[in-house]
Amino acid sequence: PTLTSLYASGALRAAATSTVAATASRSINDRVGLIRGDITKLRVDAIVNAANTSLLGGGGVDGAIHRAAGPGLLAECRTLGGCPTGQAKLTGGHSLPARHVIHTVGPVYSRGRAGESEALLRSCYDTSLRLAAASGLGSVAFSAISTGVYGYPSADAAVVACRTVREFLESDDGQKMGRVVFVTFEQKDVAAYDEALPKFFPPE
Ligand code: ADP
Repeated sequence: PTLTSLYASGALRAAATSTVAATASRSINDRVGLIRGDITKLRVDAIVNAANTSLLGGGGVDGAIHRAAGPGLLAECRTLGGCPTGQAKLTGGHSLPARHVIHTVGPVYSRGRAGESEALLRSCYDTSLRLAAASGLGSVAFSAISTGVYGYPSADAAVVACRTVREFLESDDGQKMGRVVFVTFEQKDVAAYDEALPKFFPPE
């Protein structure tokens, strides 16, 4: 099977249920998934939005999530007072199949300050995962933060995403997280995850 289909079987199970079994006896690869498609269709505990600091909507995946969630999401976002780059805030899912949305703000990629961009992108994944775990959420689906109009190179971003998720799943705080799904939309990100995922989650 292709890598995408290999990892997708787990991802689709995650999409079908928000109740995730105890993680202790499961291998790390069983707790990660990769799917290509529209994140607004996923029935998980939380989808992670690539928002901007206003949290008041935008283009790309942010626009798609607000369209699918309906006006209640924008109304809730208005109460949050924005979000700094590298941080994350939680809302309800409103009309989405997902129970919640985690809004994180990725860095605008700067080649001249690649280290700073990387630290901020890493913080987006880490902060989102900690927020999910602290809120008792067991399944989380990430869009490819910053890889759209914010210009982060897809291959580098996929490495940061995979490394940060792996470290979290192995940490004490990560033990209760049932499954993390990476959602790719465009071919460039599909290729990036096909390359990065087996390095951090080698097929057994
Ligand atoms: P950013 O401003 O953080 O770069 P974008 O929304 O421009 O955010 O892009 C982030 C990623 O979201 C891109 O890789 C884009 O292909 C992807 N994307 C766009 N629409 C969707 C969608 N409906 N579901 C999942 N991913 C999407």
